[in-house]
Amino acid sequence: MEKKLQNQVAIVTGASSGIGAGVAKSLAEAGATVIVNYPFEGAKDAAEAVIAAIVAGGGKAVSCQCDVSKEADVQQMFASTVAQFGTVDILVNNAGIQKDARFEEMTLDQWNLVLGINLTGFFLCAREAVREFLRRGIDSTKSKAAGKIICMSSVHEVIPWAGHANYAASKGGIMLLMKTLSQEFAFKKIRINSICPGAIQTPINRSAWDTPEALSALLTLIPYKRIGQPEDIGNAAVWLASDDSDYVNGISLFVDGGMTLYPGFTTNG
Ligand code: NAD
Repeated sequence: MEKKLQNQVAIVTGASSGIGAGVAKSLAEAGATVIVNYPFEGAKDAAEAVIAAIVAGGGKAVSCQCDVSKEADVQQMFASTVAQFGTVDILVNNAGIQKDARFEEMTLDQWNLVLGINLTGFFLCAREAVREFLRRGIDSTKSKAAGKIICMSSVHEVIPWAGHANYAASKGGIMLLMKTLSQEFAFKKIRINSICPGAIQTPINRSAWDTPEALSALLTLIPYKRIGQPEDIGNAAVWLASDDSDYVNGISLFVDGGMTLYPGFTTNG
């Protein structure tokens, strides 16, 4: 692969599994030094396994424990990255969780936990990244932009999702936070965009693909008739992080096998 992200430093949150792990590997293949973030001690081994795979492929990566919903943790993650590598060029705000419940039964804890990680975590990480991008400015030996932020949103920033009100609200919030920041900082040559995955085969949605019946029901929602893989998202992240997308600001890039094409209307209406 062409090293389009050579000499750039990328923080990927929630990178010890699933999409984050895939994105970390793709960015490293493209030449970036990757900070593989994980939230708690129990995820350390998984983060180290992602790093081992990157290093085995000739890439560079280190791990960093940080709960993205905690301000002090996030500030520490950015400070230690800058101390170690000089700066941060790319932030992928990927960490996200689901705590599903019927709305009338949803607890405030379930609401706060999901909003705290998915949306407040985005706010905290993006704020530190923007501060660093503004401090450093453009380094034209690395990129035309002063910095790039990629938010892992979801098709559920536009598709309502019964039984997942907290998750859908967090992703809808990500959409306008991303667009607002993109509008606010484009003149500083900071590019901020989202990727909206459809159904990607990861631990977060295991029940949707781990039996033939569940997978077959899922595929009725996907015109392209396959479940997505983390590398589908990794490829999109490399493009959004590289100068190939230099004129792309504030978009939601749907990588979903057509899930947002209203597949129910294929034979009706
Ligand atoms: P996943 O469960 O494998 O990944 C989520 C990651 O977030 C985990 O590595 C977890 O350790 C980390 N995390 C959780 N709390 C954290 C915290 N407080 N601080 C830091 N990290 C934390 O699932 P995934 O599918 O890879 O999800 C990654 C992102 O993609 C999420 O934002 C999710 O909403 C989004 N997404 C996934 C799909 C899909 O089909 N898999 C679809 C749309 C969007």
